[in-house]
Amino acid sequence: VKLLIKGGQIYNFDNAFLGDVLIEDGLIKEVSPKIESQDHCEIYNAEGKMVFPGFIDVHTHPGLPEDLGYKKDTDDFITETRAARKGGTTTIIDFAEQHLEETLTQALAQRERRYEKKAQCRYAFHIAVTKLRADIYEQLVEVKKRGVNSVKVYTTYGMMLGSKDILILMECCAALDMVMMVHCEDNDIINYCSKRMLYWESRPREAETAMVYKIVSLAALTGCKVCICHVSCAESVDIIEAAKKKGLLVYLETCPQYLLLTEEKYKGEPIEAAKFFLSPPLRKEEDCIRLTEACQKGVVDFISTDHCAFLFEKHKKPFVEERERVAKGIPGIEVRVSLMYDYLVLKNHMDPKAFVKIMSYNEAHVFKLPYRGYIKEGNFADLVIMSEDKDVIRSGKLIGSSDYTPYEGMGIGCRIIKVI
Ligand SMILES: [Zn+2]
Repeated sequence: VKLLIKGGQIYNFDNAFLGDVLIEDGLIKEVSPKIESQDHCEIYNAEGKMVFPGFIDVHTHPGLPEDLGYKKDTDDFITETRAARKGGTTTIIDFAEQHLEETLTQALAQRERRYEKKAQCRYAFHIAVTKLRADIYEQLVEVKKRGVNSVKVYTTYGMMLGSKDILILMECCAALDMVMMVHCEDNDIINYCSKRMLYWESRPREAETAMVYKIVSLAALTGCKVCICHVSCAESVDIIEAAKKKGLLVYLETCPQYLLLTEEKYKGEPIEAAKFFLSPPLRKEEDCIRLTEACQKGVVDFISTDHCAFLFEKHKKPFVEERERVAKGIPGIEVRVSLMYDYLVLKNHMDPKAFVKIMSYNEAHVFKLPYRGYIKEGNFADLVIMSEDKDVIRSGKLIGSSDYTPYEGMGIGCRIIKVI
């Protein structure tokens, strides 16, 4: 099957030009300012539209942990991966989480089985290490052979690791050229603050920044590449920016919610506020501004969603009187690309090439996802065609499993027209 996309504005992270893209059997066959139409070739007129490499979201949780009892409601890889694709995300990375007695290979195999023949977009896995066994290095060698290039570590929750284990794991990752992704919140600080009245004060910024500083320090000692997940506040950006200046391989991931939404969302009706419970929580306007600047300066490496398709009616609203039971997490996979194009490119004048860099190219490059993140001959024909037409985000128009969107009613200046 051949498809010729004619006359679109093509964007890569390092070039942009008006041109055509020829696709054959799922691969990009040719990219050039002008390609003559061929026999048996479908033609798509992309004049006046933008053509991007398929976008990549490296932090998603489609299908929630079975042990939380969420499986029946939202464990639907068909729906979630279809929603990702519709929203311009052609590859997601999910987390294969090690349950206590499992080996990493078992954890990975279990997660792979849940995706098989169901996924509607491309996918890969980080391996979430929750317990270190003596053969951790050999286990990592095994999962790396199966295409896993990154490890996830928590510093809070039941599955957290302490500094001693993190150091051992960092040494292994450094030796194997794997990236460590870290959820940075200091568990002792979280516990100390857990009785505070207001949710967002119970997970204070100090918990994040103290742990970001520590993880960056451990990375400096071991030479491990680390990605600081879902950075929410200005001080964390300062720490990571300073580390980068020293030449450390510390990557910064943030999410649309930390750029667009603030803790003001917690100050209205408690039922409404539950829609925005996530960890780390939303912060202040100053933090959004600092993170936005960091995107523009190239300090932010990835914009991911930390997508969790919780249902407002089922997992949040019934528990507003018991804060601990409100599901912490928000959906976003379907709107990430359009929201971020609108916010960064249209409202903050980011070059669309830089947009491609933090939404697709960096992801493919750092996590070693082959044949993606760049429109060129031989790569997968994962393409997103967009226009600058006005739209409004409405939950009713979305196809994901969740019954609400945290971005309800937001006006945006772009649309995703076609995803290949
Ligand atoms: Zn997450």
